[in-house]
Amino acid sequence: MLYQSLLIKYAEIGTKGKNRFLFEDALMKQIRCALKPVDGTFEVTKEAGRIYVQADGEYDYEDAVEALKRVFGIAWICPMFQTEEKDFEKLKKQVTEYVGAVYPDRHKTFKVDSRRADKKYPVSSEQMNRDLGEVILEAYPEMRVDVHHPDILLRVEVRNVVNIYSEMIPGPGGMPVGTNGKAMLLLSGGIDSPVAGYMIAKRGVKIDAVYFHAPPYTSERARQKVVDLAELVSRYAGPMQLHVVNFTDIQLYIYEQCPHEELTIIMRRYMMRIAEAIAKETGSLALITGESIGQVASQTVQSLAATNDVCTMPVFRPVIGFDKQEIVDISEKIGTYETSIEPYEDCCTIFVAKHPVTKPNIHVIRNSEEKLQEKIDELVKTAIETREVVRCGEGR
Ligand code: ATP
Ligand code: MG
Repeated sequence: MLYQSLLIKYAEIGTKGKNRFLFEDALMKQIRCALKPVDGTFEVTKEAGRIYVQADGEYDYEDAVEALKRVFGIAWICPMFQTEEKDFEKLKKQVTEYVGAVYPDRHKTFKVDSRRADKKYPVSSEQMNRDLGEVILEAYPEMRVDVHHPDILLRVEVRNVVNIYSEMIPGPGGMPVGTNGKAMLLLSGGIDSPVAGYMIAKRGVKIDAVYFHAPPYTSERARQKVVDLAELVSRYAGPMQLHVVNFTDIQLYIYEQCPHEELTIIMRRYMMRIAEAIAKETGSLALITGESIGQVASQTVQSLAATNDVCTMPVFRPVIGFDKQEIVDISEKIGTYETSIEPYEDCCTIFVAKHPVTKPNIHVIRNSEEKLQEKIDELVKTAIETREVVRCGEGR
């Protein structure tokens, strides 16, 4: 086993002043959670502004790195070779072996950057840089030194052990989940809402989700697709509760009572109301949707205003200004695209009118909703009370 330890570098959370430890602790918690399903035993520690993942014995290196690439707050993952051997002559040999093992293609430029946390170490950092550079050049004559733009920046740190590392694997960036409250994602089976959830979780927000289905008009398979999407999002966002709300009676009632061209807007307003009620009950402070201006009739600015009209919580719409292709690119990157394009019906598309209003007038819509007075409160109450809660991302 080459790398016993992974050095975790974080970016933004380094700037949080007095609260920095809260961010570091949240990051360590998320790292531990992400590594749980990975083969191996890991210890996650914090030391002098750095986080280390130390493997105890054999572990699945590839899986560990893959898991860490999904932990928000990580800027870089640096796999380290560690040795307790501090004798400089032996260290030279180890550094040479490290370079030989990690870079089978030797046509590369390099620079050695040595540091001594242990100032009693008998060789100065400059001397270490020179001498280590020399032995590497001797062993691998194809390599060249470039102190300005090296292909390989080889770091050698003498601490209680010696850390040797040069590879930097990019993490996802962002902030550790759990450092920024909780929000409720309206998760459909489409492409946009999983991306929206990912983007808000990336800013450190814990997420729960709500899905509206309309059995028997929407199938069990359509519901399962949303559960699958929630599982995929929780690979980044951590465990989440998915509230599955039966929307059939509400939809049918709106269909009976209201003008059909207003159906989608009125339905969307009830989705927001119900999502907000569940959010309040479960400690979320905001809603998240995958809306993007102009994408469909219900996402014109007038429609968005009409939908927003019923919300008292902030509504986060992180993909509001994105083109469809930009959203698709993110969904491919995070691995939700293939599931999102599975062809199952959506409750929004089943009851759509041929010519939905694209510029709804809020007063007209409010007026139409008056026609629902008799039964709607009861239906909403029942929908909320009879919701099913699915726990997602437990095994991450
Ligand atoms: P998506 O790709 O996320 O499904 P969309 O382009 O199909 O979005 P709409 O169907 O108008 O757009 O939905 C807009 C947003 O409303 C979605 O991004 C989602 O946040 C929410 N939403 C729509 N349908 C549902 C549903 N059945 N359950 C939960 N949320 C929904
Ligand atoms: Mg949709």
